[in-house]
Amino acid sequence: MSAKITAIRGMNDLVPGPSSVWAQVEQTLIATAASFGFSEIRTPVIEKTGLFSRAIGEVTDVVEKEMYTFKDRDGDLLSLRPEGTAGCVRACLEDGLIHNQEQRLWYRGPMFRHERPQKGRYRQFHQFGIEVFGLTGPDIDAEIISFSAMLWKKLGLTDHVRLELNSLGSSEERARYRDSLVAFLEKYRSELDEDSQRRMYTNPLRVLDTKDAHVGEILKEAPRLSDFFGSETRAHFDTLKELLTGMSIGYTLNDRLVRGLDYYNLTVFEWVTEALGSQGTVCGGGRYDGLVEQLGGQPTPAVGCAVGLERLVLLLEALDLVKPAPSVDVMVCSMGDQPAREAQYLANRLRMELPETRFMLHCGGGKMKKQMAHADKVNARLALILGDDEVAGHQVTVKNLSSGEQTTVPESEIAAFIKQHI
Ligand code: ATP
Ligand code: MG
Repeated sequence: MSAKITAIRGMNDLVPGPSSVWAQVEQTLIATAASFGFSEIRTPVIEKTGLFSRAIGEVTDVVEKEMYTFKDRDGDLLSLRPEGTAGCVRACLEDGLIHNQEQRLWYRGPMFRHERPQKGRYRQFHQFGIEVFGLTGPDIDAEIISFSAMLWKKLGLTDHVRLELNSLGSSEERARYRDSLVAFLEKYRSELDEDSQRRMYTNPLRVLDTKDAHVGEILKEAPRLSDFFGSETRAHFDTLKELLTGMSIGYTLNDRLVRGLDYYNLTVFEWVTEALGSQGTVCGGGRYDGLVEQLGGQPTPAVGCAVGLERLVLLLEALDLVKPAPSVDVMVCSMGDQPAREAQYLANRLRMELPETRFMLHCGGGKMKKQMAHADKVNARLALILGDDEVAGHQVTVKNLSSGEQTTVPESEIAAFIKQHI
């Protein structure tokens, strides 16, 4: 036997069972996005590296150390996408979707980051995201947050996630704040951890996001970004909070919430849970009014969010809110060569007649006991049985697999019978 080839570390397979849980969750996400009037966009999983370094920021963790970057055979520098927004903006510009018009889009798919794999953190993971272009007001920010709140409601998670909310102000307000924050941090330079010392000049706001307890203590005395807000930023944030309250969406203000990517301004938010340990953020988002212009388009306001699907599924499983759904409703069984053929033809006719019902044909013959065991294994609800007698009499024996009850039904009535009993 040759040596087995294994999967890449941090990249998971999704096998039957879990894959049906994912399908159910994705169905809820898609239906919710549709209920808000959003349309789907699909973009490639690989883009030119420059797109991400320009959009996400050269000195972010993602671009500095997490991207899968390689030269292809033509020598072009490419990266597997670490997030969905940059590619979405690129596509919108290239396909003329946001020129003088608003767009409300959703996407889903795999993202790639070379992080240390652990529970809730993988190297290939999946996001479901929404993005809106062309709208400046807090009403659309509230709409995005209410989309996520609606998801939690539909999935039964409302009591298990908490909304953290902040405003990052305008870029001018942030620039003035940055100076004052750096001046403050300089006083404590020697006490800062290595990461914070480095970030203090490259990306000082990220210091606020520190996980270092001592730096956290120091930051309690740091200047506050909100003290630098002008009236517009204040009004935007106040209206957003009012709208959320009006929709009974509770929130916690967190003025150290800065998000890991550089493109955000004004509204930022995260949905966090205590049930997943340190990988507790299941959804993050915010406004990114500068990004379209930064990627070569006309100035275009934008806002969006992304849900981490692995974490969402882990949370639903931890709370016992999802279970794999059976994939078969009816097992079609037979005894003997001719009945086996008839059973196959019958299964196909029924699939056409009842497109919502899932029919599995038992293949390979064998004893009836074995065929019934097969039906049980896949959790079918009914078994259709064809033998010589049934074929001769144009009938089908139907076994209800939960009650064990058997009924003989004329072939012409079988579709109606199944419809009634599934
Ligand atoms: P974190 O702080 O947990 O590293 P992030 O700020 O890097 O998250 P975003 O870029 O905002 O994450 O991505 C949105 C969501 O995608 C996160 O809230 C999380 O649920 C999920 N996510 C991000 N990175 C990973 C990963 N490596 N594995 C699994 N899920 C992830
Ligand atoms: Mg991260």
